[in-house]
Amino acid sequence: MTKNQTIDDAIDKPILTVNKLNVVARSSDKDTAILTDISFNLSKGEILSVIGESGSGLTVLSKSLMNWLPSPLVASKGSVLYRGDNVLNLSTNELRKFRGKIFAYIGSDSTTALNPTVPIGRHLVSKLRAVMPEYSETQAQKRIIDLFDAVRIPSPIERFNEFPFQFSGGMMQRVMIVDALCTDPELLVADNITQPLDVTIAKQIVRLLYDLRDEFGTSVVFSTASLPMAADISERLLVLQNGRVLEEATPKQIVDNPGTNYTKALSERVPRIWSAKHTPMKSLTQKTILSVKNVSKTYFTTDPKAYFSKQAVKAVRGVSFDVLEGENFGIVGESGCGKSTLSRLLSWVEKPDDGEILFENKSINTMNSSELKNLRNQFQLILQDPYTSLPGHKTVGEIIIEPLKIHRSCPPQAYSDRLFEVMTEVGLPKGTEVSLPSQLSASMRQRVNIARAMVTKPNLLILDETMSSLDQVEQARLLDLFDELQRRHNFTYIFISHDLALVRRACSRVLVMYLGRVVEMAANEDLFFNPVHPYSQALLSAMPTLEKNRFDASKVLLEGEPPSPVNIPLGCSFRSRCPNALEICATESPPNSPIRSGQVECHLIAQDKNF
Ligand code: SF4
Repeated sequence: MTKNQTIDDAIDKPILTVNKLNVVARSSDKDTAILTDISFNLSKGEILSVIGESGSGLTVLSKSLMNWLPSPLVASKGSVLYRGDNVLNLSTNELRKFRGKIFAYIGSDSTTALNPTVPIGRHLVSKLRAVMPEYSETQAQKRIIDLFDAVRIPSPIERFNEFPFQFSGGMMQRVMIVDALCTDPELLVADNITQPLDVTIAKQIVRLLYDLRDEFGTSVVFSTASLPMAADISERLLVLQNGRVLEEATPKQIVDNPGTNYTKALSERVPRIWSAKHTPMKSLTQKTILSVKNVSKTYFTTDPKAYFSKQAVKAVRGVSFDVLEGENFGIVGESGCGKSTLSRLLSWVEKPDDGEILFENKSINTMNSSELKNLRNQFQLILQDPYTSLPGHKTVGEIIIEPLKIHRSCPPQAYSDRLFEVMTEVGLPKGTEVSLPSQLSASMRQRVNIARAMVTKPNLLILDETMSSLDQVEQARLLDLFDELQRRHNFTYIFISHDLALVRRACSRVLVMYLGRVVEMAANEDLFFNPVHPYSQALLSAMPTLEKNRFDASKVLLEGEPPSPVNIPLGCSFRSRCPNALEICATESPPNSPIRSGQVECHLIAQDKNF
């Protein structure tokens, strides 16, 4: 089976036929349509992507295929035919034999899918033996360990006995794939499985599904909100909007010749990295607003293997950089690279163990509490999660004016004017001030967070993954909003994100972090067109994009995950994943070399006289 399988092949030999499927949310007095007239075919060994925004019905469709709809959802019309049998008409007993054995499902939240008190391997052996009792305990263990190996979980025998909390998000997603595949299903329903993952890990998972399909002939329905991700894995895409299939097409047709305005907009909204011109805000003064000098932070946590021992987690290690007044400064890297710890240090929510941070040339380290309070008026942190970062018992109005009260930024009689002024600026309609956060959408809550940060007119904003919980439309709107606010108020922002497309659009200079270190820092164009560090190149190669990627993932894509920050290897910490590692990289830390618009830490560059 090859990726170039045609639409005609799929139609000729379907193993799954979904025919005019309707799903409703049923209440005592009415049915509300969730999916309407969904029809498609899937052939053996084919990967079909279903693409849609949140709320379009992706998860409902995925669960319908398994006849696994939670109440009050009901499949009211149509059929899901698997080799001629309507899955929707199967009895509970028949379904028990069917799910897991013939169809398997993987969801997006792998971290809560397993019981945290049971070792991973035990979970999977129990599931395998429940579905296929012909397997003995020993045979089942061997099969699970072999599959761990097939999905490239390192040290499969040791990891068999570990607990879910000892696995990263990417490794747990692999465990979920083993859970789904251990019973040799014919169809895998992968529901938004790459959404919570870093680009490098998501790319590995896509490649893995591809290899498994080729090896075992498994058919896959891959639902996702990411058009580039869908285009990367499938030759056939279904576009879903408001529970209806708008069109079925190849990725090329969707980009070059979209059949509907919605699909056209969907394609146009995908940020272009190399083929679009980006003009992020630059510093006009070259004056340093924030200076970070050799900052480090280590946490001590309980050692899971020896309960009474502590282990040192080196989250940030000797980081230095300057942020210039009026610029947008990006910080990127995979999960666990130290970005969030750094954001807490920059906003002085936590103190560094070593090093110094200066705001407008004044050392924050030596400030007393009243100086710090005054300083907080001038810089603000906006967090990632719009659900937990707002106090649920306060109204939006109370939340936004709270900083004015704390900092006495204006007389109490002016609170109301300032509240409505800032609400208008961030796009919160009048009347929202009396709502509770729980009554607002994620995007509106993030606007409340922005209003709360902006209300004291700060000079510096630190955005820690502020856009990552929003869909692409809202991300684009919020970036436009920041542009507008920045033109009006002339502030600086530090944009911390794992999403390189957003960083390309928003930031004039970018710092790349790996395992708590800065490995490269460069101006936007330099980093995206001519990255120097092998890690920066690998990050770019893994980006899902509708353009031709300038970096060949087959040459530079990373395997595995970063080493644990508890056991940082000698020499270059990127060595275990570096395709270009030299002998010296195993023993000596790479020096910091100046390059063009920034700096890089790599022996290759230090030894290359042309740089
Ligand atoms: Fe690779 Fe060596 Fe450079 Fe590290 S120092 S990135 S291992 S070449």
